[in-house]
Amino acid sequence: MERERVKCLIIGSGPAGYTAAIYAGRANISPVLYEGLQPGGQLTTTTDIENFPGYPSGVSGTGMMEDFREQAVRFGADIRFGVATAADLSASPYRITIDGEKVIEAETVIIATGAEARYLGLPDEEKYAGMGVSACATCDGFFYRKKVVAVVGGGDTACEEAIYLAGLASKVYLIVRKPYLRASRIMQERVAHHENIEILFGHNAVGLFGEPGVSGVHLVKNAGQPDEERYDLPIDGFFLAIGHKPNSDIFKPYLDTDETGYIVTEPGTPRTKAPGVFAAGDVADPDYRQAITAAASGCKAAIEAERYLSECDYNRKAR
Ligand code: NDP
Repeated sequence: MERERVKCLIIGSGPAGYTAAIYAGRANISPVLYEGLQPGGQLTTTTDIENFPGYPSGVSGTGMMEDFREQAVRFGADIRFGVATAADLSASPYRITIDGEKVIEAETVIIATGAEARYLGLPDEEKYAGMGVSACATCDGFFYRKKVVAVVGGGDTACEEAIYLAGLASKVYLIVRKPYLRASRIMQERVAHHENIEILFGHNAVGLFGEPGVSGVHLVKNAGQPDEERYDLPIDGFFLAIGHKPNSDIFKPYLDTDETGYIVTEPGTPRTKAPGVFAAGDVADPDYRQAITAAASGCKAAIEAERYLSECDYNRKAR
């Protein structure tokens, strides 16, 4: 298999990966970045971004990621198509296989592979993507001011999203498949006492309807029970909040991950337990998952990579 040695390998092309590439490029450590399956990352699936500082009139997700990319290229980042398909982080140089056909031997690795929102798996979720279906209330909630929306899920994320949306929308339905919420007590209470939120316990969403965008959801109440009921609920927006899946599978044998698969780093830093391997952005962030926080952690990862390489150089010369 073809082999190539690099100083700094960045895997992923969301805000974390590109920001790492900008900083690593300016630090002269010749970053090579592989874009992954979805160049530009999750943001390219949102419409407008209005909460990233520096864009007072908002910007499209793809437009912003093109700006990030251009800035990284300007400082010499070598940006390539390709997906990391295997990893060996047992010893330095770390070996990352790209597309199953090439091995990159890297002195430092910045993992910025992101996370994917989980969806129910309904064909309608794809049909209405960007047309009423979203998995990020902070990103898209603004478009539903004074409208009616539904949030699916019963965990802390769903409650948070419901509360956020309730500040914008005229009505929020929280669709919960069980007869109770999984969320923390405080979130349960907030949701239960919010005048704009109605919790639909024991409900499953089985389809969406409307042309061209969503105008309602098909619901089943108490599925499989003698009192099973099917009905349609008019809504304008359908938000998924049933969890995220971090893209960390190939690194799991070598790094600490939490029960959901998020890479565990030293608190406040992107350092993983493998020296010279850093994790930035959503793959290591179960809490915030914002473009700005991902970008900040990408910056930290590049600074750490540069320091690590300098230390290795110094130690080599001192020997
Ligand atoms: P969780 O895994 O906690 O909850 C997922 C929710 O989605 C559950 O109610 C689950 O239902 C439901 N769900 C899963 N699959 C389906 C499906 N196919 N159909 C219908 N419903 C489904 O994920 P969260 O993202 O809410 O939270 C992840 C972690 O992050 C948690 O530890 C949480 O506490 C934490 N968090 C903390 C916050 C804070 O402290 N501010 C904010 C947000 C998250 P069921 O209960 O039936 O399994």
